Amino acid sequence: MKLYSCTCKGLVFFENVRCTGCDRTLAFLPDRGVMSALEPVDATTYVALSPQADGARYRLCKNSIEYAVCNWAVPASSGDAFCFACNFNEVIPDTTDPASREAWHRIELNKRRLFYTLMALALPLLPRSVDSRGLGFAFKRDVMTGHADGLVTINIAEADTPTRERLRENLAEHYRTLLGHLRHEVGHYYWSRLIDGSRQLDAFRALFGDERADYGEALKRHYECGPPADWSTRHVSAYSSMHPWEDWAETWAHYCHMVDTLETARSYGLALRPAPAGGAKLKPVAVPRLDFDDFNDLVNAWVPLTLALNSLNRSMGLQDLYPFVLSNDAIAKLRFVHDTIERPH
Ligand SMILES: [Zn+2]
Ligand SMILES: [Zn+2]
Ligand SMILES: [Zn+2]
Repeated sequence: MKLYSCTCKGLVFFENVRCTGCDRTLAFLPDRGVMSALEPVDATTYVALSPQADGARYRLCKNSIEYAVCNWAVPASSGDAFCFACNFNEVIPDTTDPASREAWHRIELNKRRLFYTLMALALPLLPRSVDSRGLGFAFKRDVMTGHADGLVTINIAEADTPTRERLRENLAEHYRTLLGHLRHEVGHYYWSRLIDGSRQLDAFRALFGDERADYGEALKRHYECGPPADWSTRHVSAYSSMHPWEDWAETWAHYCHMVDTLETARSYGLALRPAPAGGAKLKPVAVPRLDFDDFNDLVNAWVPLTLALNSLNRSMGLQDLYPFVLSNDAIAKLRFVHDTIERPH
């Protein structure tokens, strides 16, 4: 995620709705990929002040005006009431229930970050309402989080931190977040879009295993017997070892974690140039864009960054920010995800 600035030179974060420097309304302009201060023109229309906006006019998303759960703008020329990201919502939580509304707010914060990365990676991204192969979201209570036919369902109880932490401990997971769930479930969607029925299917099976293996049995085995003792030599997470589909979705989510975190580090000027044992110099990472053309550059930048981030957390007495170790097999799978995203689609 990039760090933005306001026309008043104040720092602006992706989640902000108002500038603390000049008190202007802030919004993300999804068609231009920037956060911008907005100057009202009339009761509903604003002119975007960011130099990248060229004086374009916008409205606020309906979910910003009615529920304050969104900070994206809609081009004034568009007939849509909702912003690009909110157009994917098919079921939203009960807005008359304060707890559900709070959960929705947290989910939307993370959903917009998910979208930022999907858009930056130039992935196919259209709602099911306009594309039969599109994507949609349902945020509900008392459901299983999952994906089916392009619809990502999120159990809104996962937005409650004590509930989610309890689940994490019960399942002996090292990492469980809303953003992780969203990236994981969308990974299942992109498997069906980019791998299923494609020429990459054989290569997928060679690396991740045969996804035709009985899913129900795999699930039962995983929860009854746990992951194989040597899972970490082949997978990014213990849950990955359950079934090839889960391995793909976990690896996909991990790849999104990497590109977002690396972009954030760079936007703060945090470029790590470790001197590895033997004195060999690693190539400094200075690509100004999100898309790394070379997967090796990405991994070479990632590993030293995660070591530094974990060390920073330990200095504060906190858990490791990055509780993972990437084996060679896991890196090969991440490379497959990278190549899948880089391929024209
Ligand atoms: Zn400002
Ligand atoms: Zn919106
Ligand atoms: Zn899954």
